[in-house]
Amino acid sequence: MQRYYYETHLHTIQSSKCGKVDAAEMVRLYKDAGYTGVVITDHFIGGNTAIDRSLPWEEWVTQFCRSYEIAKAEGDKIGLQVFFGWESGFKGTEFLIYGLDKQWLLDHPQIRDCTIQEQYELVSADGGLVIHAHPYRIRSYHRDIHLYPDCIDAVESVNGAHSSSVIEATPQDLRANRLAEIYSKEYCFPVTSGSDQHSPNLYYGGMAFSRKMEDIHDLIRAIRLGEAVALLNGPETM
Ligand SMILES: [Zn+2]
Ligand SMILES: [Zn+2]
Repeated sequence: MQRYYYETHLHTIQSSKCGKVDAAEMVRLYKDAGYTGVVITDHFIGGNTAIDRSLPWEEWVTQFCRSYEIAKAEGDKIGLQVFFGWESGFKGTEFLIYGLDKQWLLDHPQIRDCTIQEQYELVSADGGLVIHAHPYRIRSYHRDIHLYPDCIDAVESVNGAHSSSVIEATPQDLRANRLAEIYSKEYCFPVTSGSDQHSPNLYYGGMAFSRKMEDIHDLIRAIRLGEAVALLNGPETM
């Protein structure tokens, strides 16, 4: 059976302060690695964004979306699907948002300073998907675990930056993925798997499907229905 690989969580140097790879270069890396598509999920304004927060909203959004536009142009050229998303941040608690676009951001400046509950209401109202990214991650800048089961649609149960076979995983990060899996099961949430890729050394994370996605809305449907045939976590899982 042919499998189609999708990266669900990645960062670029243009829009993420911690990003290390140019958006066009990232797209070429994924194409070469055999992926069918990627979702660009740069850090949003409440997270580690590379875009100046003092800019007026319209200008901020325009600059934030450039990484996606660069990636999309390159993807169109070389034959890799590129979808738009972002990773919102609330004092270190992070969510991947899918299914909305630049125009939606321009039309909804209230997303900038909203609460987690308001985010869910705003995103849901227009058919978007809220995924709790690495819900059990602990870092020096983020020592507490906060769960919001009423404000999400899905859980990132496999974070490649925690557990890919190409990295030296810490016991704490491996446990974080195991707990995320238990969380998703207990609450019957659909799951996602993504690399949280920042560097050029790919973690080969993401999700495998038995068909090609039409667009981000199709990917959202596939996630909601649990269509993935494999959750990737290193080159040997592809
Ligand atoms: Zn980052
Ligand atoms: Zn991330």
